[in-house]
Amino acid sequence: MSAVRLEQVSVHFGRTVALAGLDLEVAVGETLALLGPSGSGKSTALKAIAGFLRPSGGRVFLGGEDVTDLPPHRRGLGVVVQSYALFPHMRVFDNVAFGLRARRAGRKEIERRVTEVLELVGMAGFRDRYPRELSGGQQQRIAIARALAIRPPVLLLDEPLSALDAALREDMIAELLRLRAELPDTAIIHVTHDQGEALALADRIAVMRDAKLVDIGPARELYQRPPSAFTASFLGSAN
Ligand code: ADP
Ligand code: MG
Repeated sequence: MSAVRLEQVSVHFGRTVALAGLDLEVAVGETLALLGPSGSGKSTALKAIAGFLRPSGGRVFLGGEDVTDLPPHRRGLGVVVQSYALFPHMRVFDNVAFGLRARRAGRKEIERRVTEVLELVGMAGFRDRYPRELSGGQQQRIAIARALAIRPPVLLLDEPLSALDAALREDMIAELLRLRAELPDTAIIHVTHDQGEALALADRIAVMRDAKLVDIGPARELYQRPPSAFTASFLGSAN
């Protein structure tokens, strides 16, 4: 069974077609990069999966269940959106505990889960800090820990590295690869406009252009034998 399945999902904003009948399937434990230029519909696709917006057409399935009509908090996903800042007035611990408290988890369970995910992202020593006391990269790790705290079967990442400088981005790619190995059953959809990031991280890459899926396939295959000129130029323009 697939972790995520989109069937002909369309999103219109007035006259703008942000997503034009997207079909997409992500397997349990798979990391899929959604790659494309700015404005191609990547964030819109992610928001449709997360439930932050209602598709104009089509259906969204999670673990085989049709969730098209469910609000975000009923979908049980982990989401890290670029604009999703941490809660500035809360310590790291409380930021990470937020989703668990919303689900009325017990005190011990919260303590155990928060400790576990902070260790997972290498931030165990930072639980009492405030977000403003952390670097951009550290804040992003906390945002990922917060998303993982509820043990989501699917983790959605929207340009999680784009605010970081090049050196830090390299570190975070290594970090995400390690994380992936630790979470073999978690499906990850990683939105990026950076071909290098997609090639480094993804099992498969889905290339988007103008609200549509252009090509999809195993990362290496797509790089070595791009099915279309667009994918060739987009992937080939790395470095
Ligand atoms: P990407 O994440 O690939 O850069 P988006 O999914 O954000 O692209 O946007 C796809 C298209 O939809 C763009 O043309 C964008 O301007 C438009 N769009 C996205 N969100 C909105 C919105 N809330 N209102 C109007 N247009 C939007
Ligand atoms: Mg975007």
